[in-house]
Amino acid sequence: MISGGGTTADVSSSHPSPPADASTDLAVRVVGMRKTYGDVVAVEHLSLEVRAGEFFTLLGPSGSGKTTTLRVIAGFELPDSGHVELHGVEVTRSPPYERPVNTVFQDYALFPHMSVLENVAYGLRVKGVGKRERSQRAGEALAMVRLPGVEGRRPIQLSGGQRQRVALARAIVNRPRVLLLDEPLGALDLKLREEMQFELKAIQRELSERITFIYVTHDQDEALTMSDRIAVFSNGRIEQIGTPGEIYERPVNEFVAGFVGTSNILVRDGKRYLVRPERIRMLAAGEAGDSRTVGGVVREVAYLGGVTRYTVALEEDETLTVLRQNLETSAASVLEERGREVRLTWREQDASLLDTNQEEEAN
Ligand code: ADP
Ligand code: MG
Repeated sequence: MISGGGTTADVSSSHPSPPADASTDLAVRVVGMRKTYGDVVAVEHLSLEVRAGEFFTLLGPSGSGKTTTLRVIAGFELPDSGHVELHGVEVTRSPPYERPVNTVFQDYALFPHMSVLENVAYGLRVKGVGKRERSQRAGEALAMVRLPGVEGRRPIQLSGGQRQRVALARAIVNRPRVLLLDEPLGALDLKLREEMQFELKAIQRELSERITFIYVTHDQDEALTMSDRIAVFSNGRIEQIGTPGEIYERPVNEFVAGFVGTSNILVRDGKRYLVRPERIRMLAAGEAGDSRTVGGVVREVAYLGGVTRYTVALEEDETLTVLRQNLETSAASVLEERGREVRLTWREQDASLLDTNQEEEAN
């Protein structure tokens, strides 16, 4: 639908649109993708499906294949095998500009000699959108990222967080159906990053009827904060896909358990179990506990302000980390607990079995 006056918010882009009834709820589908660079296998056996409107995060350590996957979806890389669909249309071999996708990079890649407004409107200018509509849509995009009033400035006259917003505005002004974000907050300091995480999530909620977000990060807290679902990457493969709750509470293996949270592993009858530090209660040596109780000695105490982290050596030659909220305790009193004999207890449902069918599924 092309509007005459350029005043509606629904002017279609030059991208081919799917049928109006778009019964395909999937925004992105990657099937059996493999990508190598010379001898390096960057990604293999990779399949994932992202629903329309989702905030979907690719989480994993550096070098695990996240950026490669994003670049294949964007069309900057051709996979060795497998295919990519965007809203039901096969695009594996289509160039980036034919895909209904935009990418926000970590380094923002703003044009230094252009004003903020010109930067945001740039993609529209390339497409031949008229000047009035360009300015209007760029203004709307800047309002959407909560950055009004700086249209005339150059990027160098903005803070890091503001530049980030300009980069985001520049991507959404083209009305992509899928927005790809590669560690977009990586250059910001922690406080600002946390603020931007909430804002980005709020912006995504407002846009979710039109835009699907695929977000790359190596930061587990960031992934847990913002995502509807997370794919955990390791060595060019996906270990697990799930909601933040599923990933954290029911990790399928030790890698996921350790990458998203603290890995607290117990071996019982040859099986490996995970118990999260905050699920364990620490009792005095004689106190009775829940169904699972083990004895140990406090080896280390780290006072972290809001919580204290205890490292407890168990009788079974294992070590568990326990987190306790500092409700009534003081820094001095928790530090006295080093060397103390304790009992640890947790509810049966808080110990989750690891490595369930992992090997079979991966092959
Ligand atoms: P991530 O984004 O998770 O850090 P990447 O997808 O960038 O990981 O990289 C995955 C693997 O592919 C790494 O081993 C990396 O060194 C390699 N790689 C990525 N891009 C290239 C390239 N252009 N040439 C050679 N190797 C590459
Ligand atoms: Mg990367």
